[in-house]
Amino acid sequence: MKWSPRGSSPDVIDQRGGGGGGRSRGRGAAIGGGGLGLGGILIVVLLQVLGGGGGGSGSGFDIGQVLQGAGGGPVAGEPIPAGEDPEKDLKDFSAYVFGDAQDRWTAIFSEQGRDYGRAKLVLYRSGVSTGCGDASSAVGPFYCPADQRVYLDLSFYQDMIDQLKAPGDFAWAYVIAHEIGHHVQQELGTAAEVDAARRKDPSDANALSVRQELQADCYAGVWARGVYQAGQLEPGDVDEAFTAAESVGDDRLQRQAGGRVQPDSFTHGTSEQRRRWFTTGQTTGDPSRCDTFAADDI
Ligand SMILES: [Zn+2]
Repeated sequence: MKWSPRGSSPDVIDQRGGGGGGRSRGRGAAIGGGGLGLGGILIVVLLQVLGGGGGGSGSGFDIGQVLQGAGGGPVAGEPIPAGEDPEKDLKDFSAYVFGDAQDRWTAIFSEQGRDYGRAKLVLYRSGVSTGCGDASSAVGPFYCPADQRVYLDLSFYQDMIDQLKAPGDFAWAYVIAHEIGHHVQQELGTAAEVDAARRKDPSDANALSVRQELQADCYAGVWARGVYQAGQLEPGDVDEAFTAAESVGDDRLQRQAGGRVQPDSFTHGTSEQRRRWFTTGQTTGDPSRCDTFAADDI
């Protein structure tokens, strides 16, 4: 993808050197993008409690190893010296995609006579306090509706390459655009409708979650259409996004047991469904085509 750094990014809150420091403002369920949501947190906590699933050092599960990813980034809690940020390019690119996606949605909302309230992107390392409770990077990227922030540990980029086999800048961009898709659902009131329906009929909760996730994929595709129209797509970009969308499908994650990313039971749809809905958004560029809730066959 063609891009250039935007300079300062008012949408981005960099907490990587600050050791958390987020505020808790009530509770709401986080929506996982790398796959995972609260189920993932619970699994990690259970693994810690049970002392299982680790690297066999004899001392039980080493959560530190899991959270650190492939390393190379700054250490949580230690300030990053100016000019010495090993993740600078990835941070700049993430900020670019986040800002670009929000600009695109601002324009789409405006065409419909609506205002778009911008979300924030919080970069953190290892663990973070959010309006949806405390989270560790083991859950992958996620959006918290309660504080309207996307939470991202940049080390997930390496996990996508090593564990999910989904390399490439546009694969990463897809993940960010998917999280913005959840914010769009929040802005449109879709998320509240889903929550109400879920409370009314808890047995339907999983099916609703799948449709909510697939809609966020479709919205990511709508953003990708804008990138294409701006002449910024490069050969292979869309394939990278396909690979990423497929690799974070629940069926694939179920086969990745043992990695840092843990499956949440089929709340994100299959790989084929994720690819299909991303394509719908990407080929039409029309968010009204992303009504996964009305579709008989997803
Ligand atoms: Zn999601």
